[in-house]
Amino acid sequence: MSTEQFDVTIIGAGPGGYVAAIRGAQLGLKVALVEKDKRLGGTCGLRGCIPTKALLMSAHVYEQTQHAADYGVQIEASAIQLAFADVQKRKDKIVTKNAKGVEFLMKKNKVTVFNGAGRLALPGKVEVTGGCSSRSGACLTCKA
Ligand SMILES: Cc1cc2nc3c(=O)[nH]c(=O)nc-3n(C[C@H](O)[C@H](O)[C@H](O)COP(=O)(O)OP(=O)(O)OC[C@H]3O[C@@H](n4cnc5c(N)ncnc54)[C@H](O)[C@@H]3O)c2cc1C
Repeated sequence: MSTEQFDVTIIGAGPGGYVAAIRGAQLGLKVALVEKDKRLGGTCGLRGCIPTKALLMSAHVYEQTQHAADYGVQIEASAIQLAFADVQKRKDKIVTKNAKGVEFLMKKNKVTVFNGAGRLALPGKVEVTGGCSSRSGACLTCKA
């Protein structure tokens, strides 16, 4: 088990966590970010705000197309079809792009990302378990 010292250790790479990590790094602190999900972005980026808005946009386009004639646009009704697999594909692409964007921001700001579940083991000590890719079974220590 390895130990690395950080000024700040943040558990969770949702909007709360990754924004705090960036700000800490901008202020000159050595920051660690621990995330148990394989991708960064949290509920908002992976399951909440971002994917739901992508799905809503597809629903909006589908709905608008059904009323195209109201706007003087003629589309054969039978030609309008919702290809749900493609809707999902588009949504997944957006989610992946967003997660990669967060990953890029962590690299750019020199935030060390640990992939695994974080636990406050002792005051000032965070333990990362379960597939920690940065340091296998690493124990992070942050200055309290
Ligand atoms: C369907 C849906 C739609 C939404 N739409 C919007 C919207 O349009 N606009 C809006 O403002 N808000 C929206 N929200 C709310 C938004 O997602 C949350 O407010 C936001 O994600 C909270 O951010 P957070 O960083 O606090 O937590 P989260 O985004 O939940 O991030 C927490 C992260 O911590 C990780 N984690 C938890 N425990 C551990 C651990 N022990 N070790 C390591 N990692 C851990 C989790 O895996 C997760 O990645 C929506 C939510 C849902 C469910």
